[in-house]
Amino acid sequence: MNNSSAVLILDKVSKSYGNGLAVDEVSLSIRENEFFALLGPSGCGKTTLLRMLAGFETPSGGCIYLDGNDISPLPPNKRPLNLMFQSYALFPNMTVRKNIAYGLEMERLPELEIRRRVDEVLSTAQLGELAERKPDQLSGGQRQRVALARALVKRPRVLLLDEPLGALDKKLREKMQLELKRLQHESGITFIIVTHDQEEALVMSDRMAVLDGGKVCQCGSPTELYENPNSRFVANFIGVSNLLEGVRSGPHSVRVNGQELSVETDAPMVNGQAVAVVVRPERLQVLTEQGGDCANQVSGKIVEVAYHGLDTNLHVQTPLSDKPLIVRVPSSQFEFAHFAIDTTIRLGWQARHARVLTR
Ligand code: ATP
Repeated sequence: MNNSSAVLILDKVSKSYGNGLAVDEVSLSIRENEFFALLGPSGCGKTTLLRMLAGFETPSGGCIYLDGNDISPLPPNKRPLNLMFQSYALFPNMTVRKNIAYGLEMERLPELEIRRRVDEVLSTAQLGELAERKPDQLSGGQRQRVALARALVKRPRVLLLDEPLGALDKKLREKMQLELKRLQHESGITFIIVTHDQEEALVMSDRMAVLDGGKVCQCGSPTELYENPNSRFVANFIGVSNLLEGVRSGPHSVRVNGQELSVETDAPMVNGQAVAVVVRPERLQVLTEQGGDCANQVSGKIVEVAYHGLDTNLHVQTPLSDKPLIVRVPSSQFEFAHFAIDTTIRLGWQARHARVLTR
């Protein structure tokens, strides 16, 4: 682990409740100015991990270092970390400006400095024109921006956000994802966000950790995790995957249901070992009769056509697995008549687009 620019280091952090282990020896190094996402299914330990960083839970084991200092013994209000809760309660009787200034007033900062810092944050969060409004005169997205501004104005070393966009509808959520990324970039503050939404993590984060059962399964950039998942769990959790179960039959081949598939892999494996080949839907090509230059080819019958606007997903039943393969085709590039249900088509993919998973 390269810790040179690390702000926050988690060293084998665990949390048990009775006999259950909610967080199991998690080690992570989070860098300066990073937008870091903790991602995983419900109950995987994301919130518990965040609450330990904020100081609301005490780890059962391990250490948490902020700028090289062990912060485990510090209470929440002594940590230069700020946690923004899912339900970001604003003070209803206070204006936006007052809501934002409140934390600094509690710290008894000089009035002039409070005004300067609040003005700066109002401008970054694009709330200038709304400064004198009360929360009930704001939209959901605007309220969410006030909550963020209130957290940012305190200039925490690290801002912790627990499902910050959870309460917003899909469209606003997508807009706020970009907004949040911009705010992080402009403020230069390290953000750690908890989400169960993989798309959100892919869009927003510089790096992310996928958790399952309290453990980190994989940590890396969105592209690394999407293109090179290290396990079936990560391949399934991030994006849509076609997983083909087979056995290794040679240095560059895997036998899947009697058919040899070409793969490129450096993973140490032995012949006969059970593995899965993963191919992303956008890597599958619909081949013409000539077949093209794809090392891997298979015929199948279309069993479902799912139109998503920009793209259409064809579900194709092949002899390679019980589950249909999903092929993503840009909607602009095909005539629907050619891809009706029950039509037989031929699919192909390059060896380099097939990842081999041993876990
Ligand atoms: P979600 O996305 O549903 O919020 P999560 O990944 O944030 O889930 P946590 O809230 O961290 O998950 O919970 C992790 C595990 O720890 C779960 O099995 C949960 O039931 C358990 N847990 C959390 N808090 C407590 C507690 N105070 N007492 C006992 N068990 C707890």
